[in-house]
Amino acid sequence: MPASDEVTLATAPCMFCDIAAGRMASDLAFGSDEIVAFYDVNPQAPVHILVIPKEHISGVGVVESGHEGLLGRLILAAVEISQSQGISDHGFRLVVNQGDNGGQTVGHLHIHLLGGRRLGWPPG
Ligand code: 5GP
Ligand code: ZN
Repeated sequence: MPASDEVTLATAPCMFCDIAAGRMASDLAFGSDEIVAFYDVNPQAPVHILVIPKEHISGVGVVESGHEGLLGRLILAAVEISQSQGISDHGFRLVVNQGDNGGQTVGHLHIHLLGGRRLGWPPG
């Protein structure tokens, strides 16, 4: 398991690693030494932001003991962004898709922050 201050490199090209490293352009909403957030290219709500670790973790299904702090800070970042985006008062949704049945299409852990409209439930 990598130390928390190391960045694990993806073995295959990863577009979210590229975004996190600034190699690929994106509209940033938040950044820290270990977390980046950017606007989803295909927004499903008035506010749709992806919050990711800079460390390459392929999905929530592979997190390990040692990731607790990072996972907590990802959620804290998402909540902080919901406040700065002005969507926290009326509510919002955090989503993590895992694997094919979960609808995951990008193999780098990301939390969707969705808000600005009433979201349906159950999900499709
Ligand atoms: P998933 O389906 O894996 O849960 O979510 C992946 C998300 O990444 C999708 O909502 C998709 O629109 C978004 N996405 C895919 N490629 C890019 C990209 O190059 N830039 C940005 N900003 N979002 C992307
Ligand atoms: Zn990656």
